[in-house]
Amino acid sequence: MSVYWNRRARGLSPYVPGEQPRDRKLIKLNTNEHPYPPSPKVAEAITAVLAEGAERLRRYPDPACTELREAVARRYGVGPEQVFAGNGSDEILAFVFGAFFEGAPEPSAASAKPDAEPVLFPDITYSFYPVYAKLWDIPFCAVPLAEDFYLHAEDYCVPSCGVILPNPNAPTGRALAVRELLPLLSYQLENRRIVVIDEAYAAFGAESLIPCVNEYPNLLTVHTLSKSASLAGLRVGFAIGNENLIEGLCRIRDSFNSYTVDRLAQAGAAAALSDTAYYDGVNRQVAATRDRVSAALTGMGFIVIPSAANFIFVRSPDMAGADFFARLRERGILVRHFNKPRIADFLRISIGTGGEMDALLEECKELI
Ligand SMILES: *Cc1c(COP(=O)(O)O)cnc(C)c1O
Repeated sequence: MSVYWNRRARGLSPYVPGEQPRDRKLIKLNTNEHPYPPSPKVAEAITAVLAEGAERLRRYPDPACTELREAVARRYGVGPEQVFAGNGSDEILAFVFGAFFEGAPEPSAASAKPDAEPVLFPDITYSFYPVYAKLWDIPFCAVPLAEDFYLHAEDYCVPSCGVILPNPNAPTGRALAVRELLPLLSYQLENRRIVVIDEAYAAFGAESLIPCVNEYPNLLTVHTLSKSASLAGLRVGFAIGNENLIEGLCRIRDSFNSYTVDRLAQAGAAAALSDTAYYDGVNRQVAATRDRVSAALTGMGFIVIPSAANFIFVRSPDMAGADFFARLRERGILVRHFNKPRIADFLRISIGTGGEMDALLEECKELI
């Protein structure tokens, strides 16, 4: 706490990212990074920019990320005007809260309604959502998931200033089919409210809502290259939706920083998007490892939530979550524990290489 912080800085409760240990001997299964390298085309594209000489870095990058947005548009069969690119999807999510969800009215405002409508998201979900809501002073309502962490989309068919949810959800890994989400999109469309679907993990086994963006002008899908394109270090994400939604995001970005995606990142990301054959292969491999590890852990007596993502959410039959976490760490395996109501006994375990997951299974067998 500092006397120089303003009320906003004092009131924040910042997101705490998973640890990036310096100790390279740890098997790192805590931040959902991809176990396999990015497409070789990424390094080629970045090297090509550098080979053009320092001249290329002397200039600002294209603020509109035109080539990158065209690569997204080609890959997903949409128009470039339906695409927004950002510095990781976290930045895009921050802009989403700023552009589309209504802040609380000033208490003194004459027209203030007593209860501002909240933005809706699940009680167990990506923990950055409440952080952004507080940053922008937006009231929110954390809608409880069912006992088995199933998300009932009809729970979100209530008055609100908008809805945001990940599909698959994080950290549970559970996914909904598109048909389960369409009634929610329709309800909120009638009420002129936006529905934002965070598809950070969709490439590992969930249906994407991208094909619905033309039919639902209130739908925005948000994507990242960090997980499914093995590019967490490059910091690139994108959003797809109606042109007017994209313009809303641009208005926030251009009131903040016009050049959020650097020249090397734009080139590398566009190259990654063009190499679908490579990524289909490695992502299928991650999904196969996930299913094998889930079955093995279930066989040993662990509770494993059915996952469509590149991580699993696991509870030990006899160890508290904090214990389970500490004992895996002692054995050189780093996973993620959220010390929060309802999920304190679960660990989120990212899917690593086959060899890393064999080591995990070995340790789990000894612990049980
Ligand atoms: C990892 C993650 C993101 C953020 O990804 P970046 O593009 O690396 O900022 C967004 N949403 C969810 C649900 C995630 O798990």
